[in-house]
Amino acid sequence: MQNDIVAALDIGGTKIAGALVDRQGRILVRAQRPTPAQEDGETVVRAVEAVVAELAASPHWGRARALGIGSAGPVDASKGTVSPVNVPGWRDFPLVERVAAASGGLPVELIGDGVAITAAEHWQGAAQGYDNALCMVVSTGVGGGLVLGGRLHPGPTGNAGHIGHISVALDGDPCPCGARGCVERIASGPNIARRALDGGWKPGADGDTSAAAVAAAARAGDPVARASFERAAQALAAGIAATATLVEIEIAVIGGGVAKAGDVLFAPLRRALRDYATLSFVQNLTVTPAMTGTDAGLVGAASAALGARDAAVAGVGG
Ligand SMILES: [Zn+2]
Repeated sequence: MQNDIVAALDIGGTKIAGALVDRQGRILVRAQRPTPAQEDGETVVRAVEAVVAELAASPHWGRARALGIGSAGPVDASKGTVSPVNVPGWRDFPLVERVAAASGGLPVELIGDGVAITAAEHWQGAAQGYDNALCMVVSTGVGGGLVLGGRLHPGPTGNAGHIGHISVALDGDPCPCGARGCVERIASGPNIARRALDGGWKPGADGDTSAAAVAAAARAGDPVARASFERAAQALAAGIAATATLVEIEIAVIGGGVAKAGDVLFAPLRRALRDYATLSFVQNLTVTPAMTGTDAGLVGAASAALGARDAAVAGVGG
């Protein structure tokens, strides 16, 4: 069992990454294809099958005992289907069945991409050693996942911890998900940029209106840019405080492009957390940047596959 490895897939709107990963979390082999996101579902799955075939051609493949998939969501792990918002050709697409067939019958574990990044942070990153953690990705959207009682908590469908669509402004702006005032509607990169522009912030000579450009302006002291980050920080703090109060997390880990703003985000976030996380059992909550990088999705999918594999082996044994 020590010699076992697992296969992992990280499926997003722009690329499909694959890897063979050992028990220490080392990536032994990689494969990657662009996601033909606007094509029909069969064309998209052929790109996935090509990645699996490339992994299967490796001499290490014979040691692979399971395959983990972290996919853009929503996913439904209970049915083995995915319906990624940014891959319209896949709606209730039977991804698990197709990947199992492509892999020659390996057991397949499906989780959402936010849950995958959480698994990676718990295994190798900032949430290592914490039994109760919320990990978030703040970028174009806002996603997340939970570790509870020392274990990844994907929930029945693989989406638990999706903090981006908790409402923190009851009468707030409509969110594409159908609700109002969601964390994502306030704290995502595009919303940070939009709010700064609406408030009169002007981009520099390069015309860059990304959240990263707003962060640079905030760092240089621009009050509108700072205010936009402070509002985002407030929304994140309210969502984190709600989560902490509900399930007693000890740490909130934040990754994604917006987290690269550093203190521009984290300083007002830690201040706002004092306003919202008030009860004794949530006051000592740590908030920290994520440590895993671009491989987090793959590493997390591998971690989920290893966890499922070990549970299955333990089940057979006793
Ligand atoms: Zn929403």
